[in-house]
Amino acid sequence: MNMTTARSLNEYPPALDVDPACEEAVRAAKRRAAEVGLVLPPDFVTLWVKAPGAPNHAETHVSNSRYVCVFMRDDLGPRGTYETMLHELQHVADASIIPHSSRDEVERRAEAFVVRAMRGDPVNTIDARRSALRREGQLSPIVPSANAGIHSRRAPPGH
Ligand SMILES: [Zn+2]
Repeated sequence: MNMTTARSLNEYPPALDVDPACEEAVRAAKRRAAEVGLVLPPDFVTLWVKAPGAPNHAETHVSNSRYVCVFMRDDLGPRGTYETMLHELQHVADASIIPHSSRDEVERRAEAFVVRAMRGDPVNTIDARRSALRREGQLSPIVPSANAGIHSRRAPPGH
């Protein structure tokens, strides 16, 4: 979601020459989301934009709780596109509740979904997630709770 005062991704020009590997990463994220049980509306759209240096990697826009559009930068590379799309797909699935939910809640749900979808993936480290969030401009104190399973690997206090 774009909750900052920076220029929104829908104000940038469309990308007309998207790397096929990034397009495949979006399809792979949709397949992975379905595998782990995310229910997506059939009619949302993904629009690629040229926005190098924009604070957000992607934004999910919801109009009237129904019309959903994911704006995705075309310069994230396949891995960055994959992770970012997983995050946005939870927002897409949450389209009907987003207007009635807090930003922290919807971001917590999106990050929890990324962790769940990428469980078992060697790239899924908390450092990778934190750097991804920082790039999206959404790093916040909600991250540790969203990654509670990772934190639980630490030795118990006093040892
Ligand atoms: Zn988000």
